[in-house]
Amino acid sequence: MGHSVYLDHASTTYTKPEVLKEMLPYFTDLYGNPSSVHRYGREARKALDQARERTAAALNADPNEIYFTGSGTEADNWAVKGTALANSKKGNHIITSSIEHHAVLYTCKYLERNGFEVTYLPVDEYGLVDPEQVRNAITDKTILVSVMAANNEIGTIQPIGEIGAIAREKGILFHTDAVQAVGSIPIDVKEMNIDLLSLSAHKFYGPKGAGALYMRKGVKSEQIMHGGAQERNRRAGTENLPAIVGLGKAIELAVTDIPQRNARLEALRNRLIDGILSTVENTRLNGHPIKRLAGNVNFSFEFIEGEALLLSLDIKGIAGSSGSACTSGSLDPSHVLLAIGLSHEIAHGSLRLTLGDRNTEEDIDYVLEVLPEVVQRLREMSPLFNQNKGGRTYV
Ligand SMILES: *Cc1c(COP(=O)(O)O)cnc(C)c1O
Repeated sequence: MGHSVYLDHASTTYTKPEVLKEMLPYFTDLYGNPSSVHRYGREARKALDQARERTAAALNADPNEIYFTGSGTEADNWAVKGTALANSKKGNHIITSSIEHHAVLYTCKYLERNGFEVTYLPVDEYGLVDPEQVRNAITDKTILVSVMAANNEIGTIQPIGEIGAIAREKGILFHTDAVQAVGSIPIDVKEMNIDLLSLSAHKFYGPKGAGALYMRKGVKSEQIMHGGAQERNRRAGTENLPAIVGLGKAIELAVTDIPQRNARLEALRNRLIDGILSTVENTRLNGHPIKRLAGNVNFSFEFIEGEALLLSLDIKGIAGSSGSACTSGSLDPSHVLLAIGLSHEIAHGSLRLTLGDRNTEEDIDYVLEVLPEVVQRLREMSPLFNQNKGGRTYV
């Protein structure tokens, strides 16, 4: 068998065997509905409660501040729409960043079409939001600040503690999309003054289809799913119990030994970054050199198309992702790469490789063997490269 190197952990992770093991009985034997009064229901309720306790413990929240959802996307939608609707008498202004995940960004666009005003804060060349710009953007109409904890494309880690402190001082709600951050950076919702936080199990070795919204006690929010009385009357729909059990187990594992796991991932990541930057010219590393997720690498290779690069790597058994959005049916490059100042052309030649806990040094060495060759071959076919041969070099 040929090589098979998965470097797309920011898209999704496998489910850990010990997580799956805890989930399985809830498909076959313990299949009760947590809302039922009989023994089956009570057993299911117990498991739901335990998952809620584990999730709360991972964030330093109270169990009754955790609401399970069907995804990180749903948690983001609920956080932003729910608080906007519930607080619209107070004001109609929302502050967010220009590099949020589409789950927040497109929710804000939707609200703009419905009478809300949104400030999209710029970021610097590394993708950092300046907390002082958050402070300066606040008006007497501002009801919510939503800034992600860590970016899914370039891995930049935001100063959410500082932003949270400013929002709290001004009496404005603070939401953070922590879908990429949970399990990678320590999060304490009390210490960081976070009012709402989104997470998703399949980004930290749990199953797909289970997310959660942390909502601090006392936060005013409308529900967006109407129907039954699940989740203490705030999110209707029978709970996806096997997946929620998996979320609970996965988050418990994810917040244990973060420094040790990060040290291992950072060593692999730096080997990859140094190896590529020293052998492939006309290449830049996107994102912050230090304030970045331990497993995130994002390069731009001048003169080539990210999509062509991805396909060539796939043939060699390497799974990555690119910043150009052909996959989503559009030719626009990533809004994140444009926001950090890349030209359309450079943004199109980008590649994201995100490492996870099964990756080894051998995986990285294989990428270091294959990637420079592939880039070289694609460049040789590129008219742009031939015009510029021997031209600019930048990092
Ligand atoms: C993956 C991701 C989401 C969406 O989560 P899903 O559970 O896949 O819907 C939201 N925000 C960020 C930062 C993500 O990386």
